[in-house]
Amino acid sequence: MKTLLIEDEKKIADFVCAGLKEHGFAVDHCDNGNDGYDKASSGIYDVIVLDIMLPGRDGLSILKGLRKAGSTTPVILLTARNELDDRIEGLNLGADDYLSKPFFVEELVARIHAMLRRISGERQNVLAVGDLRLDRISREVTWKGQTVDMTGREFNLIEYLMRSPGRVFTRTQILEHVWDYDFDPSTNIVDVCIQRIRKKIGLANDGESPIESVRGIGYRFRKLGGS
Ligand code: CA
Repeated sequence: MKTLLIEDEKKIADFVCAGLKEHGFAVDHCDNGNDGYDKASSGIYDVIVLDIMLPGRDGLSILKGLRKAGSTTPVILLTARNELDDRIEGLNLGADDYLSKPFFVEELVARIHAMLRRISGERQNVLAVGDLRLDRISREVTWKGQTVDMTGREFNLIEYLMRSPGRVFTRTQILEHVWDYDFDPSTNIVDVCIQRIRKKIGLANDGESPIESVRGIGYRFRKLGGS
């Protein structure tokens, strides 16, 4: 995890650098806004911790410049206590979170982890493996760029398998997760549903389908190149 800290107050910078390193982050530090903006623009950081009041370019201007240039690097702002306007403006400009001074470095670390978890969850709104793509918000499924109509159940089944490509799921696991209630385990509704999905994407043959049968166990989503 590579972090950029842009902060001019030496005391704060020292304890943040030390604390982040202690928690396993790599940290680069800039003590002014102009260098900070240049470094932040490089795109090599996983997260940017940005003070607002800085010599040279101020934090909000840096943030505005980054977002205007298309940067999506997560930014956590360090704000003075009671500077509500700064926080609101920062969030409106595209900050992902903020922390008021003074703060404990443990809180900064916890905020960074929470922010990254949130962002990775959002990014996973679209699952894509090989030629199959699934949008969890619009609930649209595309195969080789063509939209395929799936029922809710079919969608949920694909999503369940696709979240862990290569992992084998038993019929019972699939039943519990996709159908929500206990079925007679001898039922073949899972197999029937998978056959329907394969037909819809024009791949009735198991050898070509992204959903592979694992004899005697259940099914898995093939681990394909590309993701
Ligand atoms: Ca400052």
